[in-house]
Amino acid sequence: MTERVPIVENILSANDRLAQENRACIDEAGVFSINLMASPGAGKTSLIEQTLSRLKDKLRIAVVDGDIATSIDADRASAAGARASNQVNTGGECHLDAVMLHGALAQLNLRQFDLLIVENVGNLICPAEFRLGTHTSILIASVPEGDDKPYPGMYRGVGALVINKIDLLPYVPFKMDYFQRGVEALNPGVLTFPLSCRTGEGLEAWIHWLLGNVKRAACLF
Ligand code: MG
Repeated sequence: MTERVPIVENILSANDRLAQENRACIDEAGVFSINLMASPGAGKTSLIEQTLSRLKDKLRIAVVDGDIATSIDADRASAAGARASNQVNTGGECHLDAVMLHGALAQLNLRQFDLLIVENVGNLICPAEFRLGTHTSILIASVPEGDDKPYPGMYRGVGALVINKIDLLPYVPFKMDYFQRGVEALNPGVLTFPLSCRTGEGLEAWIHWLLGNVKRAACLF
């Protein structure tokens, strides 16, 4: 007689297993880590620069920069005060994955840092599919991209949403209410930081949130 045995559908992909390893290393070091995702030009590097300019004297910050080919963003992070700035060239891949972050972490002594910022490749679809092992993913939307772009895969999994370039609201047809209703449908109650990296408006709330998380991560381990 054949007996049916329920199989727990918990077989992790190779990427997810390595993401768990990455997370264990990050947790052991007491570091808070974020994965910044956005379309090209939304302001990932600008947000990193503004974050560094406000926190570089309080926190030891490492940046891992994913880019298809150049080191421009990693150079900007170094110039802005990152204690370490590690470039990962993806060789054409449109996202980072856990293997790439694993390689980057191997070159960092994580215990020397308080905050790890991972800048994913500029792409609004693929990065959501690949867990890296960071504590949370942050999506940056920007006002000139329009108010009708809440791509489901990206918005559903993120821990917070930054709406950048709010200084452009008077000049472009972006209805904040309409946009936020779309976001709410995909990720109810998601923490949202409307801000402008150019004028500095709204950055205080973002910095406050980051600092709170860094303190919590440092206490837990
Ligand atoms: Mg960039």
